[in-house]
Order: sequence, then C-alpha cells, then structure tokens
Amino acid sequence: MAEEKPEKKKLDLNRQPMPKQDHWERIRNFDEVALGYPTEVAVKEASRCLQCKKPLCNQGCPVGIDIPGFIRHTVEGDFGSGIRTIKETNALPAICGRVCPQEEQCEKSCILGKKGAPIAIGRLERFLADWEAAHGKIEVPKMSPKTGKKVAIVGAGPAGITVSNDLIILGHDVTIFEALHECGGVLIYGIPEFRLPKAIVNREVEYVRSLGVKIHTDYVVGKTRTVDRLLEEFDALFVGSGAGLPWFMEIPGENLNGVYSANEYLTRVNLMKGFRFPEYQTPVKRPCRVAVVGGGNVAMDSARTAIRLGADEVHLVYRRSRAELPARAEEAENAEEEGVIFDLLTLPVRLFGDENGWVREIECLKMELGEADASGRRKPVPVEGSNFRVPFDAVVIAIGNSPNPLIPMTTPGLEISKKGGIVTQPETARTSRVNIWAGGDIVRGAATVISAMGDGRIAAASMHKYLMNRE
Ligand code: SF4
Repeated sequence: MAEEKPEKKKLDLNRQPMPKQDHWERIRNFDEVALGYPTEVAVKEASRCLQCKKPLCNQGCPVGIDIPGFIRHTVEGDFGSGIRTIKETNALPAICGRVCPQEEQCEKSCILGKKGAPIAIGRLERFLADWEAAHGKIEVPKMSPKTGKKVAIVGAGPAGITVSNDLIILGHDVTIFEALHECGGVLIYGIPEFRLPKAIVNREVEYVRSLGVKIHTDYVVGKTRTVDRLLEEFDALFVGSGAGLPWFMEIPGENLNGVYSANEYLTRVNLMKGFRFPEYQTPVKRPCRVAVVGGGNVAMDSARTAIRLGADEVHLVYRRSRAELPARAEEAENAEEEGVIFDLLTLPVRLFGDENGWVREIECLKMELGEADASGRRKPVPVEGSNFRVPFDAVVIAIGNSPNPLIPMTTPGLEISKKGGIVTQPETARTSRVNIWAGGDIVRGAATVISAMGDGRIAAASMHKYLMNRE
C-alpha cells in the first residue's frame, strides 16, 4: 500500500486585523490606540506561519530573536516558553512589539509577504509580552556569579537599558546615569502615551532594576560629573545619550512664539504631562490651527497629539509626496483617520508673526518631484512663483534630530563624526577611547528603538570580553 503523504499546509495570506479604539473616541483621550490581539486571534495569526526551514524573518531582526521559535510556542498555546524565547535576546519585547518598524525588518523578510501579508510578528511579540505581564509571571533569568567589575551607563534609553540588562546578567555591577527625572529616554519623552503607554516603559525599567541595576536620575553626565570623572570609579562606560538636538528649517520667523521643535512639544505633553493641567503644573498651550512640518513618525506623533489637545485643524506639511512619507504606514493611516490634513509637496519658506511676536501665518511653496537623490527618493523641486500663505497659530517642526552634543563636547579623545555622533567600530561598538563604548542615536542620529537595542547587545558582548580579559 502506498505511503500516505503529509498534508501540505494551506497558505493563509491574510493577517488578522489589530483591534483599535474607534477614531471618534480616541481623539478625545491619550489612551493606547491599538488594543492588542486577544488570545484566540494571536494563536490564529501565529498558525499562518510556515515554520520555514531557512527562515528569512530572523535575518531581518537586529537583535536576532528566534522568530519561528516563539511563533511555534504561540501556536501550541505555550505562551511562557514563547516569551522566554524572545527574552533570550530582547529585554524590551512589549516596547519593540509596539514601536519597532517590523514592516521594514523581520516582516519585510517573511516569505508570506511575497504572495500576501507577512506574519504580524510585532503584534505577536506584543501579545506574549502583555500576556506575561498580565499573568504576573515575569521570570528572572539565570544570573552569572559576580565579577566585581563596575560599569557606568550614560542614558536610560533603549540602548542603555539593553546594555544594562546584558551586563548585569553576566555578573557585572551596573549603574545607569539618566539626565531626566524618569527613565526610558525617547520612549518616555518622545513617543506619546497613545502609541506606547508609559506604564509599559516603567514596567520594563523596573524589570532591569529588579535584576540589580542601580539607577541615578536627574544626573547629567557631562555637567554633574564628566565621563572621565566617572571612569575614576568605573572599569568601563557605555554612552547611550541619544539624539535630542532638534533640527530647524533655518527660515525667517522660526524664533516666533508658538513655534516648537517636536522634541519640546512632545516632551511638554509626554514627560511633563502638560495635557493633565492642573493635576500637573506644566500646562501646554492649546492652539486652534497647528502646522506640523515633516513626514516621519515624530511628525505623526506631534500632529496626533495636537488633535488630542483640541486643535480645530491640524495640517501635516511635507515637501515630498505620500509615497515618500518616512512614517510607518499604519501611523500615517491612524493620523488620517483622526483628521490630520496632509499638505503634501509643500515647503514652508517663511513664518509671519503678529505685533506680540506670536506666529500667525506660514508662507509655503508648492513642490514637484524631480530625479531621485542620494537616498533613492525623488527629489522635491520648488515650483517657481507658487508661493501662498496659510494662517496657523502654532508650528511644530519635526524634521529630525542630531546626537546630543554634551558628551562629545566634554570628553577629550572621543572621535566625533561630521554629523556630531560618536564614531564606533560597528562590530564591537567601541569608541576611540579604550574603556568607552557607545550605541543608539548618539552614534546613528535619530534611528529606531530596535537598532539602538542591537547596538546595546553588541556593546555588552564587547564590554564583557574587555572586562574579563582586563588582567
Ligand atoms: S519567514 Fe514568515 S513564515 Fe517563515 S518562519 Fe519566519 S515568520 Fe514564519
């Protein structure tokens, strides 16, 4: 009798949709928009995975998560093993599952994406992290014996937290120095509550603290104490001080009242809780017509924040077309659903104010797309004589950030790039100083959370080697 062939898995090319708060509801609150997969939906989505023999998804993950592994555990309903698999290489799964651009990384490489929708890897990662938190089953990994080596970490953002996590597990004594009064870096001051609830960031920070990492807040390395003074006490130091220096357009009128960098605008709301005045004594102005200049995730966050603060009209002013928007597609869709008006192919060239110095109008130029530039995107070219003026009473500039200059300025012997970042060896994250490593936005300029974490992992491995071979 002929042997029966195993049944070939039927391809399911459609991913499970993410439940969201209704857009009419959510523009009146700062609660998280995406609600997360319920258990049965997560298992259904995970079941689409083909468990490829040579999984391409893994290659797209900067921290090397065993993606098919955690998906397999999810299909089996063994969520504890699923989250354990992720945490072998990623200390911040609830955060990465929410804010990483998976569509450009693991999901972009998923084989199912060639014919239909790739597996929703980020949503499944979030599901497992939230499941773990909801079930109070946060596990502490096996810790190595103490080495007696002391490590200082500058900055409690994603890179600093990752290095701290890896080095404390390896037995080193780790202390974080954070300039702000709360930990999390850009996750706290930059990304709004409706995209990444702060309770989740605090949960992940507390997890690292529970492993024994010491944290000093309100401690500005470079001012409170320099890197060199810290190195009198510590054996090695990692710099993850981020990219908090905002770019401006350098056009007339940018210093008018009512013109904000996105950094300032979002910090006032996210960190200082300006929207909860008078509970918090740091109110934020509530203008009627807001223009947000830029097209990235920070621009979308600013525009959606302005909507929630009650602005009558919020415009996103972007010099290229919709196809070139650097923001995640789902964030652009959310912004549109919430009523943000996209003024595409539009470039602000001048801001006009009133007699009291408050911004009142923007003069813009219409643009058209020319040849592709060095980034591969078609270059916006001004249409001559197309100038027009639009009334606005607030302008938020969200066109990018440079690395924080304080540590480069106060640490002799550190090699600094033309863009102001610390130069490192990519394979080790070592700087030009023998006992200093660096990673994340202070090296790359504003990049992604997961790439900062990837740098952190590389740095931790190299620092461990250095610390153990020191004698
Ligand atoms: S490439 Fe896609 S289908 Fe294959 S193992 Fe990875 S997630 Fe599953």
